[in-house]
Amino acid sequence: MIRKLDLNKGGYRGERIKIERIVRRILVSAISQGWQVDSVSTSNAISLHALSRGGEIASAPRVYISAGIHGDEPAGPCALAELLEEERLPREFGYWVCPCLNPTGFGLSTRENADGVDLNREYHAPSSDEVRSHIAWLENQPPFDVAFCLHEDWESNGFYLYELNLGVEESLAQGMIDAVSKVCPVDLAPEIEGRAAVGGIIRPNPDPLTRPQWPEAFYLIQHKTRRSYTLEAPSDFPLPVRVAAIKAAMIAALAMLRR
Ligand SMILES: [Zn+2]
Repeated sequence: MIRKLDLNKGGYRGERIKIERIVRRILVSAISQGWQVDSVSTSNAISLHALSRGGEIASAPRVYISAGIHGDEPAGPCALAELLEEERLPREFGYWVCPCLNPTGFGLSTRENADGVDLNREYHAPSSDEVRSHIAWLENQPPFDVAFCLHEDWESNGFYLYELNLGVEESLAQGMIDAVSKVCPVDLAPEIEGRAAVGGIIRPNPDPLTRPQWPEAFYLIQHKTRRSYTLEAPSDFPLPVRVAAIKAAMIAALAMLRR
């Protein structure tokens, strides 16, 4: 059985990564596989990249993935690097990918960016260069069939996810949880982060008025997609377990979209 490390006291205390190396691996894979790589930052001090591939075929699913909006959550960018290197993203889909939205936070291993801003709370009224640049880029992209935001939770006892689904799209949530349960514990608590949860799935009220400080997922559900998933790997477990959990969830979700 995979056990918690009990390192996380008052915050994330686990493995740190060199984010520049992870992003470089992602960019090398993307370029070699024919992705388009855009630099989206408006500030010279911050290096933000967006990748895209496919999307020309109107009937193919359009998939958005973002990672690294919190600098103390390394599993998302690491999982993305492996998904690209192992060519786990089905060729026939269209993709729009932001591999690391908070590079300065990773340098400090903080949730916030170097200015102390939690980027995932300001998608309604952005003040940071990161979120402004990100939204400006998103506004130029087509709508997505599904969006995935890759996160970690330093306090949780297992993997869980949030689903925002405006009702017409198939739910991918249970299939992702089933796949993760083979490689990582799932948090089965009836309440997670103050919200009701069932079997590791939280379905928050998608009404943006319920949360004035929009996370990225609220922006996406308002402007870009009708279905979003925020994946939360448990960061008190070893990093390879968390990376395996996120990869398993993504591979399962993409296989469900293929059907
Ligand atoms: Zn997070």
